[in-house]
Amino acid sequence: MRECLFCKITRGEIPSRKVYEDDEVLAFHDINPVAPVHFMLIPKLHLDSLSQVSSEHAVLLGKMLLLVPQLAKEQGLDHGFRTVINTGKGGGQEVFHLHIHIIGGGNIPPMVRRN
Ligand code: AMP
Ligand code: ZN
Repeated sequence: MRECLFCKITRGEIPSRKVYEDDEVLAFHDINPVAPVHFMLIPKLHLDSLSQVSSEHAVLLGKMLLLVPQLAKEQGLDHGFRTVINTGKGGGQEVFHLHIHIIGGGNIPPMVRRN
């Protein structure tokens, strides 16, 4: 059994506010939202990050991406949303179980640029 936080959420050992669940994936609200709607979609299979994926995960990753707009719509994000995948320490990742953030509602600003 993995000590990973999101694996524990997947197993129901830590509660979450579920958005969607099937055999392969789980979506739940972020505990510390950065916008009115902020949830994440994770594979139930533990993968540390996008750095760890290979062609064997192509179908799973494709399924996840296809689910994103459907779940966003169900959460009321009719005018669009932001997706974020932080990868590794250099990408600001804090929980090392692959996840897609889906963020929207309110005023989502353009990406911040250096110049
Ligand atoms: P990241 O920085 O991309 O690794 O994102 C990790 C996210 O997990 C952060 O946005 C946290 O707010 C969120 N998080 C941490 N613990 C929990 C939890 N128990 N339930 C839901 N979201 C969580
Ligand atoms: Zn995990």
